[in-house]
Amino acid sequence: MNPFSFVRANSPKAAIDAVSKGDNSRFIAGGTNLLDLMKNGVMQPEKLVDINNLPLKDIQLSKDKLHIGALALNSTVAADNQVKAQFPLLSQALLAGASQQLRNMATVGGNMMQRTRCSYFYDTAMPCNKRQPGSGCGAIGGVNRMHAIFGASDKCIAVHPSDMCVALVALDATVLVTGPKGERKIPFADFHRLPGDTPEKDNNLGKGELITAVEIPNNPYTKNIYYLKVRDRASYAFALVSVAAALELDGNVIKSARLAMGGVAHKPWRLAAAEQSLIGKTATEENFRVAATVAMENAKAYEHNSFKLQLAPNSIVTALLKATSV
Ligand code: SF4
Repeated sequence: MNPFSFVRANSPKAAIDAVSKGDNSRFIAGGTNLLDLMKNGVMQPEKLVDINNLPLKDIQLSKDKLHIGALALNSTVAADNQVKAQFPLLSQALLAGASQQLRNMATVGGNMMQRTRCSYFYDTAMPCNKRQPGSGCGAIGGVNRMHAIFGASDKCIAVHPSDMCVALVALDATVLVTGPKGERKIPFADFHRLPGDTPEKDNNLGKGELITAVEIPNNPYTKNIYYLKVRDRASYAFALVSVAAALELDGNVIKSARLAMGGVAHKPWRLAAAEQSLIGKTATEENFRVAATVAMENAKAYEHNSFKLQLAPNSIVTALLKATSV
C-alpha cells in the first residue's frame, strides 16, 4: 500500500476543503471497499479525509419523504422500523447485500460510491480502462460471466455491484450533495454513469462534492414488493442478476409499477418501459412475461454471460410473482 496522509474532519466544510485542495484525496467512512482497493494498488490516494464524525447519520420520516443521512449504516437502515414498514423494498435490498459484518461498517454514501467488482479492475497486471484509461479492457474478450448486458461500451462492460442502489433507483430517490460550489440535488437515476468513453468515472459527482443524504418520496409500495437476488452462493456474493419489483394493486389490476435491475449494467438499471407495460393490466404471469420481454429490448451479451439473456427476464417474472404472492 502506498503511503498516504490521514485527517479527521469535524464539519462538512472542513471535509470538502480537505478533499478539494488535494489532487488525489478521498473521503473515507466505513472503508469496506476503498481499503481493499488501496491494498491491491488499484487506488492510491495521497490523503484520506475521515468523515465519520460528521452529523450525517439521521433517519427521518416526514409527511412526504424519508431522509437518510449518508453516514447511516446499511445495517441500521435495513433494521429501521420506519424503513421496514414504509420502504420495505429498500430494507430487503440492503439485507441482500454483503454480510452482516460488512453492513455494520458500510454507510449509505459508501454503498453508492463502491466500485465495480470486475476482476480485471482489481488485477493491476491486466489492462483496464476504468483503472488506467486507455490501457484496454481485459473483460472484453476475457472472462466476462459477471458483466453487463445493458448500456456497455467498447471501453468497459463492468456492472455496478450495489443492491441498495437498485431499490433506490426504483423508488425515485434523490441524492443530496454539498461541495465547493454549494448544495445540489441529483435524481438517483442520474447519479451513476454509463461507461461510454470515460469508464474511469463511475458517477456525476464533481471534485470535492460530498454525499450528505438520500431522500425517498413517500410511495404506495408497502406491500407488494420483492427484491430478488440471483447469485452463485447464498451469502456474500455479488448479483449475477437482481430485480427490485414493486406494484400498486387495485384488486388484481396494476395501478403503478416500479422495476429495476442490478448486475446488468454500469449503473442500477431502471426498467421504465416494462413498468409502463404493466399499468392497467391484471397481475398475471402472462402479463409479467410481456413486461420482461419489453425489459430485455436492446440487451446484448458477451461470450460468457449470454445466460443472462434468459436469467434476467425469468428473474423479472419471478420477482413480480413473489411481489404478488404476499
Ligand atoms: Fe476494466 Fe471495465 Fe474492462 Fe472490467 S469491464 S476490465 S472494469 S474496463
